[in-house]
Amino acid sequence: MPEEPQPIRRLRTPEHNAKIGAAVAASRNGNWKGAGASYKAIHKWLSENFPKSGVCESCGASDRRTAYAFQHHGQPYTRLREHYREWCWSCHHRADWKTVRAHLRKTA
Ligand SMILES: [Zn+2]
Repeated sequence: MPEEPQPIRRLRTPEHNAKIGAAVAASRNGNWKGAGASYKAIHKWLSENFPKSGVCESCGASDRRTAYAFQHHGQPYTRLREHYREWCWSCHHRADWKTVRAHLRKTA
């Protein structure tokens, strides 16, 4: 028998969501340009030159999709492997939120 859809609990106000959305956009924007290399170009270069191991360098998970994460948020992208970590989506997500929260603090 079909399950009743549960109403989504809205813990945040629309204003709060808009503020977070803006902070996410701002924290990302700073990263999209820099040193003449785009985010996409760098990640292509990274995966071509340093094939991913498939193991997260943060939590050690090997059963999740991994991607390179730049470790110097807010600064121009570099082509130095040591500036990147291979992280699973879960660790990426956590790091993203840390950046967003830091940005919110700065602009609050
Ligand atoms: Zn991880």
